[in-house]
Amino acid sequence: MDRQPIGLYLHIPFCRRGKCPYCDFYSLPFGEDLADAYTAALIEAMATQPFGPMQADTVYFGGGTPSLLGARRLDALLEAAVRFFALPRDCEVTLEANPESVTLELLQSLKTGGFTRVSVGVQSGVDSELTALGRPHTARQARQAIEWAHRAGFEHISADLMLAIPGQGEESLRQSVSFLTSLPVDHISAYLLKIEEGTPFAQKRRDLSLPDEDAAADCYLLCSRLLEEAGFPRYEISNFAKPGGQCRHNLKYWRCQPYLGLGPAAHSYLPQGAKGRRYAFPRDLKAFLTAENPFALLEDQGEGGGWEERLMLALRLEEGFDAKTLPDPSARRALLCKAKELATRNLCQIRGEVISLTGEGMLLSNSVTVALLEALESGLENYRRQ
Ligand code: SF4
Repeated sequence: MDRQPIGLYLHIPFCRRGKCPYCDFYSLPFGEDLADAYTAALIEAMATQPFGPMQADTVYFGGGTPSLLGARRLDALLEAAVRFFALPRDCEVTLEANPESVTLELLQSLKTGGFTRVSVGVQSGVDSELTALGRPHTARQARQAIEWAHRAGFEHISADLMLAIPGQGEESLRQSVSFLTSLPVDHISAYLLKIEEGTPFAQKRRDLSLPDEDAAADCYLLCSRLLEEAGFPRYEISNFAKPGGQCRHNLKYWRCQPYLGLGPAAHSYLPQGAKGRRYAFPRDLKAFLTAENPFALLEDQGEGGGWEERLMLALRLEEGFDAKTLPDPSARRALLCKAKELATRNLCQIRGEVISLTGEGMLLSNSVTVALLEALESGLENYRRQ
């Protein structure tokens, strides 16, 4: 068993009502009895996980809308995490919450119970955009939720912002950014809206008046610049934080560090020998609740943590990928040579042997990453043939 502490992810697959029309996450309508049964099943899963003793130093309640569980169930889940994963005193414990599903009392109670971070699904500071997104809250409710989290004593508060949404223009984006940066948050996630197949938005894609690719790129660059000017430097393609505000749990994903995900649709990456294996629970709440052993449902997604994957994930981060960590000089040379070529086009930068993407490179991250991956693979191929 690797002794590195893991990140523990608990998926809470409930939302208050029908799904937001762009959403592809696994979630079902909330019900009190179902929530009780699920809380008990998650506690049982924590107690019986088959991967051996583990310590976690981050816990993330994601969803769905975890705040719907209420203080009693959330506290019980966190107590179980303390018991079964030896959480240290400085453990980061994040709760995703929607503005309409929190109260000051709930947030105060969670703070007392050991939660340290709240991530609020704001998405926009403009009510007409929230309506276009089918969100069940207003900008006023979002402001209220964040102010309550602050009043409850949370030092770490994050807000989600969505870019390239129907009807969004430069002025409304500026309005949303200044709305968020005027609130007591230390972290902002800014994601481009992606139209997922099978969602209502995919069916009516043509009627949505979505910005084209160039306009979406402009949105991203403008948003990045405005956030940086407001004191939120980017640390990952879609994540911006004040100093000390980075999400420690999510950093584990991009740094290829171990995490255990529990609940339907939850993913895990756990060390095994020199590399690691990836696992996922099926998107099936009923199966998770009724299985005698839910871990028998786990889908083995194969080996993870290879160099290609490490490079791909590290390039999402401002801290980048250190070519010195590669096992072979020819792979290192091939990668640095390609990076130098991309640097002449201002798509990446090299400090020492650390390669990271520029703002322009992040916009074209798919093609830039593929070019670097191809160079790495050819270098590694030579190494393996030796
Ligand atoms: S609240 Fe979040 S998880 Fe639930 S449907 Fe909307 S976007 Fe999806």
